[in-house]
Amino acid sequence: MKSNQKSKALFFKACDIIPGGVNSPVRAFRSVGMDPPFIQRAVGARIWDVDTNEYLDFVGSWGPMILGHAHPAVVNAVLETAKLGLSFGAPNEREVELAQLIIESVPSVKMVRMVNSGTEAVMSALRVARAATKREKILKFEGCYHGHADGLLVKAGSGALTGGVPDSAGVPGDYARLTLTASYNDCEGTAAMIEANKDDLAAVIIEPVAANMGVVAPTMEFLNLLRTLCTQYGIILIFDEVITGFRLGLSGAQGYYNIQADLTVFGKVIGGGMPVGAYGGSKELMELVAPKGPVYQAGTLSGNPVAMAAGIATLKQLRTTLNIYEKIEAKASALEDGIKQAVAEAGIPVCVNRVGSLLTTFFTDRPTVTSFADVMTCDRERYATYFRAMLDRAVYMAPSQFEAMFVSAAHGESEINRAIEAVKASLLDLKGN
Ligand SMILES: *Cc1c(COP(=O)(O)O)cnc(C)c1O
Repeated sequence: MKSNQKSKALFFKACDIIPGGVNSPVRAFRSVGMDPPFIQRAVGARIWDVDTNEYLDFVGSWGPMILGHAHPAVVNAVLETAKLGLSFGAPNEREVELAQLIIESVPSVKMVRMVNSGTEAVMSALRVARAATKREKILKFEGCYHGHADGLLVKAGSGALTGGVPDSAGVPGDYARLTLTASYNDCEGTAAMIEANKDDLAAVIIEPVAANMGVVAPTMEFLNLLRTLCTQYGIILIFDEVITGFRLGLSGAQGYYNIQADLTVFGKVIGGGMPVGAYGGSKELMELVAPKGPVYQAGTLSGNPVAMAAGIATLKQLRTTLNIYEKIEAKASALEDGIKQAVAEAGIPVCVNRVGSLLTTFFTDRPTVTSFADVMTCDRERYATYFRAMLDRAVYMAPSQFEAMFVSAAHGESEINRAIEAVKASLLDLKGN
């Protein structure tokens, strides 16, 4: 790194006036023992910090930037829409357009409500599930992250896991007790848990591909089991597709695995980098939402025209660019192969998991990582060393073992090859340690 003086000064000041210096915990780089660079701009697969260091970016704003940064179609849509006014607090045409694009892509979604974040969308979907079933308990899976709502910070993934507080302070015990947890991919344990609580469970909520404890693929048996039991007992199956939605394909994980949820939660890609979340499902369920129904949920800035414009432009690009998902996946697959080869050469125990354009390199000697327990065997110190070695080589990844690498349409062959070279060199560094 050339210099990081400006970032250092900003972070020092930020720490005085913003908790931990950041507005979302995992940005703080604590778990990799560093201070974060402050990012000034981004184009395609590249980002630059305030000290003019350039990085190859595999975070992609944690998922939204599937087209790469500052895609001209998206930026133009935002600029043109902004000229017409930033917010009306009244219906606008673009809300209808984005809703239509989502509904056309995801067969289980017939009606959709826009909100401002994934967290908000999950909270609201759970409220609908509770209203529909007149039950109160929910079941989630260890290591899955569903935003920071009270009842979901129970054995949560992402920053909660990275920071060592999967069960947050400040969550009322009575509230957390309504959240049951089971192990991801554990068919037997999950079935037993559902059977034992079948009369009290409003919803089972899951990341259909876990991507907030690192990437862990579901088994088909596991997803089918959830679908079967939820149908059998009248429990609402909620797929949290905040990461997988419009990333694994236009129809998200539901299309990828050919399975349907009762309620689906979106975020990240559908906002194209602007703050957008959404939840949707059958008309029967969604018509429970106010003002049509009794479930109250509102938002001053929900359906914001500028945010909608970014989402619409992003989804349109995804729909109209020939084979875009196949192309992105091919790049991610090449990266996976490169990492595996580098790992074999360095002789370091690592397990690489990939689903579509999501990928995690787990520093564990387990041959496979299919559960939260497997994830917990990872050597975080080793990841931190690897992360710093990669950053030194100008490759910017999530500063946590428990996150995904996000490959975008802007990552070309040369970017992937550059990343693989960095992986090779960084692993050799690690071996030397
Ligand atoms: C990011 C994420 C959320 C929360 O979305 P925010 O917009 O950060 O509130 C919820 N669920 C999953 C699966 C996520 O990855």
